[in-house]
Amino acid sequence: MKTLKFYLKDCNKNGYCLGAYNFINMEYIKGICEGCKASNSPAFLSVSEGAFDYMDANFVKAMFDTVKKEYKLPLFLHLDHGKSFEMCKKAINYGFDSVMIDGSSLSFEENIKLTKKVVEYAHKHDVVVEAELGVLAGVEDTVKADKSIYTDPQKAKEFVEKTGCDTLAVAIGTSHGAYKFKGEQKIRFDILKEIEKLIPNTPLVLHGASSVPQEYVEIINQNGGELQGAVGIPEKFLTKAATNHHIFKINTDTDLRLAYMSTLRKHMTENPKNFDIRKANKLAIEEIAKLVIKKNTKVFKCNDRI
Ligand SMILES: [Zn+2]
Repeated sequence: MKTLKFYLKDCNKNGYCLGAYNFINMEYIKGICEGCKASNSPAFLSVSEGAFDYMDANFVKAMFDTVKKEYKLPLFLHLDHGKSFEMCKKAINYGFDSVMIDGSSLSFEENIKLTKKVVEYAHKHDVVVEAELGVLAGVEDTVKADKSIYTDPQKAKEFVEKTGCDTLAVAIGTSHGAYKFKGEQKIRFDILKEIEKLIPNTPLVLHGASSVPQEYVEIINQNGGELQGAVGIPEKFLTKAATNHHIFKINTDTDLRLAYMSTLRKHMTENPKNFDIRKANKLAIEEIAKLVIKKNTKVFKCNDRI
């Protein structure tokens, strides 16, 4: 079985990235794994702090261990937006493959200090550390910011050298949530290029990179939802980042939520007498799988890489 260390090198060498899919329950994780199986893809299965609380650590670990065994794929359990050393330590002790320490809201110096501490602990346990520099606008679970601050390439170099982090999440114009652009849609590939020049051996990560498929938004709005004006990152930008740049991991959370919720809402409207959630959930698993296949094959290009 190929390891995470293998992909850390191979993705950028061969022009693809891994999808990092957030899960919050059994239906999500099943749908994601079905999609990865059908496309022969490796993937990160991500758990945010909010999802960690929601599911409880033991359930997270049990579900992950089960799908690892069932699907026999290179799947990596990842902590998304760990906010403290304690949270990262907890995830590492539970057997996570990778943790993100998000010190992006701290000062540069404080972020370095915190990240370094997590790196020291994680590397002792052979766990990969993702750090973040720059601020993404938007809302996602417990993460919230009003304005984005682009990653400064020079500071990124200093940060990586001082912390020893394995991968770095950069802010180049993507944002969290379902309402990504108020004005013009712009990804700063110029900044990305500068970063890559200065830290050529550091795999990079894109957060806030859901595409917000409009067909899901329409279904939700036609069936009692109110998501007017939801918009995401055009997929062509993500493919460019995955294939021509050093983006190694692209996070997807919002799109999974939309796939799930649109399926549930539609089913409930069309079947008002049904009160067995399994029927709707089964369809939602299939919809998530479909979405994951599309992402892996058409956007991230990580299909047939196991
Ligand atoms: Zn994020």
